[in-house]
Amino acid sequence: MHRASRCRLAKGTAFERNVFMERIVVSCMDRRLSGYLDSKYNDGKTLFMRNAGANVSDLERSIREALMEYPEIESLHVAAHTDCGAMGVVYDALTNPAHYNGYDYDIKKVLLDRFAGMAIARKDMLERINKNIQELAVSYMLPGELRVTSELIDLSALSIPESNGKHVLVISEPSNARYADMAKTVNAQIQSIYFIQGYEIKDIMPDIKIAVNVLHLNDVRLLSDGLGLSDDEISMLKGTIDLRSAQFSAVKMIRPDGN
Ligand SMILES: [Zn+2]
Repeated sequence: MHRASRCRLAKGTAFERNVFMERIVVSCMDRRLSGYLDSKYNDGKTLFMRNAGANVSDLERSIREALMEYPEIESLHVAAHTDCGAMGVVYDALTNPAHYNGYDYDIKKVLLDRFAGMAIARKDMLERINKNIQELAVSYMLPGELRVTSELIDLSALSIPESNGKHVLVISEPSNARYADMAKTVNAQIQSIYFIQGYEIKDIMPDIKIAVNVLHLNDVRLLSDGLGLSDDEISMLKGTIDLRSAQFSAVKMIRPDGN
């Protein structure tokens, strides 16, 4: 099989395998994006992957796995956004060398160092540059294989319901499930959930560290949309993530159609 890594999120339901996927959307984990992503892209044929800052390079293994599982996929869309917390971390590190030193090695490697040495005067510039860098990254990663597009979602133009402040981190495999259904499954507000989605734990570990250690999300749910993780895999995940004081629980996805 093509997936041989030691610690991988479970994937693939009968529901998903019977579905024809048209595209991958890579977006940020930000809690304010899910309603928009549902309404604009979730037609059941979109496989969503999310992390800190819509960082395509960091999801390379997951993207390659998706293309093996769903060879019919024709395009990849990068959905970055304004007022991005991940870009806030990058901007802070670029403008305060002392702060840079304080960040975890993984966060430096996959997020911060990509922008090292760039003269970026404002955070909104950084957000635009990031969108372009991520779009280019797909072209380098998979030359000519996919039609690649990108957008910078203007959060100020969206009407996002007020959050109750009970922020949750949901970690799942890439999925075509609606975020509204995922929110129901974990019994939280859609606008209060940060979503991290990738097939490989290694791919999303830096993002989990940003969510837990930088954004201080302390309610972490592992949402399985597929065959479910074994107890061994769950304990491996718990052991791998430095969850500190975070609460950790595993939940199985409930689809409205019963799958
Ligand atoms: Zn963001």
